[in-house]
Amino acid sequence: MTLLLQVDHLMKKYGDDKAVDTVSFEIAEHTSTALIGPNGAGKTTTLSMLAGLVSPTDGKIQFQGNAGQDIRSIIGFLPQYPKFFPWLSALEFTEMAARLSGVATRQATVEAKKTLEFVGLGEAMTKKTGTFSGGMKQRLGLAQAIVHQPKLLLLDEPVSALDPVGRRQVMNLLKELQQKTTILYSTHILNDAEEMTDQLLFLRLGKLVEHGSLDEVRSRYAEPRIVIEFERLEELQRFMSIASWQVIVKGVTVSIDVRTEGATMTEVLSLVSSGTFQVRKVEQQTASLEDIFMKVAVI
Ligand code: ATP
Repeated sequence: MTLLLQVDHLMKKYGDDKAVDTVSFEIAEHTSTALIGPNGAGKTTTLSMLAGLVSPTDGKIQFQGNAGQDIRSIIGFLPQYPKFFPWLSALEFTEMAARLSGVATRQATVEAKKTLEFVGLGEAMTKKTGTFSGGMKQRLGLAQAIVHQPKLLLLDEPVSALDPVGRRQVMNLLKELQQKTTILYSTHILNDAEEMTDQLLFLRLGKLVEHGSLDEVRSRYAEPRIVIEFERLEELQRFMSIASWQVIVKGVTVSIDVRTEGATMTEVLSLVSSGTFQVRKVEQQTASLEDIFMKVAVI
């Protein structure tokens, strides 16, 4: 794999507060990386430094093979709250973005049209952006970020503000883009990270607290869990009066984290299958990304 970006001990301080604290990672070409973390973790600050909008207090950001090139020509950036000039049409705005990223004037029009078609704004391209819905604005934001075919696409919470339909549409566009470019995006919507990621970077209070592929991270946090659904609440209560493990109760279902509770699968399963309880379903689960997020976020 060819390396595209190296981030080394990156730091951003505001006064004495470290918004980003000694963060290092690498990104290979044609991969997608999800930057995950709770509010205030430092995701926006990290992306803004990579986009050249905020200057680091310390540390190094190195793009491979861009010697002498304006960073804007190799990076596309979709901010968390993109702003548009309401009096410009989508085409005019996207052309302007292309030209600012170094695309020649005539080519800018061609690329802008092509990109607006790609993001599903072909029919609306001559309409003023002031009339656009939230979903259309997000797609326009994506268009201005990709119109110059950047090597690295930085997206700050690209789908957080969208309704489920808009989210699905933008996620599908991102998956298509994944084939063509390298993507680094921030999110706290964990399903999205599970859907589209080669590498996870977990930030908490400015620090990189966990990273790796989804499988690697999962296996580090895998906590085999048994979920038992009883026929009735009385059955569940009877089970709890006998079992000595801490359980999480939801309706007529109990979950037992086998490793933390020092129980073995065999012990739990033999109690359940002793025939004394009326059980509807027994399932074995592994940690979801949400479970991992909760653990990492509260370390
Ligand atoms: P969210 O999910 O809420 O967008 P985030 O992970 O993107 O959060 P950042 O916006 O990067 O987090 O903020 C990280 C920390 O840096 C926060 O404590 C924030 O208050 C602080 N911070 C960010 N920008 C500034 C600034 N310009 N001046 C002072 N503090 C700032």
